[in-house]
Amino acid sequence: MERPEICKIKEIVVETPTVKTFILDRKFLFRPGQFAMLWLPGVDEKPFGYSSDRSFTVAKVGRFTEAMHNLKEGDLIGVRGPYGTSFEPLGDRILGVAGGIGAVPVVTAVEEFSRKGFEVTTILGACTKEELLFVERFRRCGELILCTDDGTLGYHGFTTEMLERLLREDDKFDLIITCGPELMMKKVVEIGRRYNIPVQVSLERYMKCGIGLCGHCALDDEGLCVCKDGPVFWEDKLRYISEFGRYRRDGSGSKKLI
Ligand SMILES: Cc1cc2nc3c(=O)[nH]c(=O)nc-3n(C[C@H](O)[C@H](O)[C@H](O)COP(=O)(O)OP(=O)(O)OC[C@H]3O[C@@H](n4cnc5c(N)ncnc54)[C@H](O)[C@@H]3O)c2cc1C
Repeated sequence: MERPEICKIKEIVVETPTVKTFILDRKFLFRPGQFAMLWLPGVDEKPFGYSSDRSFTVAKVGRFTEAMHNLKEGDLIGVRGPYGTSFEPLGDRILGVAGGIGAVPVVTAVEEFSRKGFEVTTILGACTKEELLFVERFRRCGELILCTDDGTLGYHGFTTEMLERLLREDDKFDLIITCGPELMMKKVVEIGRRYNIPVQVSLERYMKCGIGLCGHCALDDEGLCVCKDGPVFWEDKLRYISEFGRYRRDGSGSKKLI
């Protein structure tokens, strides 16, 4: 296993009340959707998607991410990666559906796709206005449709409801890419199948090694590993992942309903 590269935090950007971006003193080569293992000595090592070629964007949800949020400019973190599969473009018109912190891999993908000349539309959702992530970055890539669960900005409702509405009017998309809460992604896949549009999904599971050795992120039934066979899966692969949208394993390996 490669050693973590020790990087210095150059700048910290407060994105939302619960999300910070850590800009590091190195430039990383990665494909959109790939992730790195971030190491805080004495705390843990955890997976995070690249939010740019110099940064990681972290939502505070537990012990590790709280420790990340307590870091200051000039502090050091370990980074090893990039690991895993990436979003791949298809056809001409690509639709991104991102929820919450799932905006991280989707924004890097739609930025790359729009740079390469694909026509990009994004549906971006969050629980409330202040939690919408990377609004300006998404807007620069093409059409952006905002949704909030509480109706404080954009469409009042879920991204998947907006997806249904959009596709009813215009279903000429060649690909949907999605990352966000798993129930949201499950619905996106169902809608994509109904409209015959291929979908790529970025899954999240607890992982330890990040390189397919420990098996902690292995998925029922086939044992595909999120770290190595994913995190981005084509929708046809999901047919073999019976736990998708139903349950996942917690840090101890016990099943937890989604
Ligand atoms: C490939 C990949 C890319 C990721 N990219 C990002 C990113 O760009 N930004 C970001 O903020 N987070 C990202 N995550 C999630 C991140 O790894 C977890 O939020 C982090 O490990 C939480 O650690 P913690 O100790 O703070 O929380 P914990 O105390 O471990 O967990 C708090 C709660 O968060 C949930 N959770 C934590 N880790 C995971 C996990 N790996 N899978 C599913 N649910 C989990 C559980 O519901 C848990 O109860 C990514 C995860 C994966 C697998």
